[in-house]
Amino acid sequence: MKLVNCLSGGKTSSYIAANYKSDHNVFALVRTNDVKCIFPDKKIRQIVSDKLGLEFIGTLEDDMIIYTMLDLEQYIGKKISWVTGKTFDKVLDTAGTLPDPLRRFCTTQMKLVPMFKWWQRNINKPAKFNLGFRANEKRRAKRTLEKTNKNGLLEMKAIIGKRKTQNKWGLIEWQKPVFPLIKDNVFKDTIVEFWKNKPVRFAWMNNCVGCFHKHPLLIKKMHNKHPNKIEWFASKEKIKHEKDVWYKSKNLSFSDIIKWDNQIELFDNEFNECDSGYCGL
Ligand code: SF4
Repeated sequence: MKLVNCLSGGKTSSYIAANYKSDHNVFALVRTNDVKCIFPDKKIRQIVSDKLGLEFIGTLEDDMIIYTMLDLEQYIGKKISWVTGKTFDKVLDTAGTLPDPLRRFCTTQMKLVPMFKWWQRNINKPAKFNLGFRANEKRRAKRTLEKTNKNGLLEMKAIIGKRKTQNKWGLIEWQKPVFPLIKDNVFKDTIVEFWKNKPVRFAWMNNCVGCFHKHPLLIKKMHNKHPNKIEWFASKEKIKHEKDVWYKSKNLSFSDIIKWDNQIELFDNEFNECDSGYCGL
């Protein structure tokens, strides 16, 4: 079985790229076509466009993620395959509602589907995927394993043929998830220590800056750091219907959060519940 390192721009998955041999390294980039979030460096925008094979305008993650992946590629001396799906704008245009922790179609469409298509083009038989859960994250690994089929493989719903003029859909086995950091008992402190004084730049925090898995107080902090991006997220509320806000269960909108006073101190750690294994590790 081929082995793929699944990268997301965080220190943990980058640690895997630097320390674990694999046949491929693949990274899925979340994009926007909103020029208010344009990546500021034209030359780098062109480099990213060339890697993706389409015009790159901007990302809804921290812009630093672009430098992380370019630095990492140099540091490990191996190719990283950059993939991307629809822009977040397009994903929301065609969705009936905003995503939420139970309907995480953004991860599916912007991370999983492009990785799956890359896998179809490059491997097309079940492969091991190294996922960056750390030694204390066995619960997250367990939840991922619970989604595998009887062969221990994750499946993806995809077109498997044609029925007359209609596409025929079915499930395709593609990933055997593996967790090298759990197997080798690697905790966060080892990873943080490893990246000290290395020529790879990292964002203060990964994932989409306005990811609904982040605590509302953290969204306020992210607004201070990335006002244009959080305003992009706020602009997507209440478009489909009056109650469509990013924190549906709390009926709390980003537009309200932006108006809050700044908190004096916030806990600068991982204030984030996302456990998909594809965003931000
Ligand atoms: S980081 Fe959050 S908002 Fe972005 S794709 Fe992942 S789950 Fe969706």
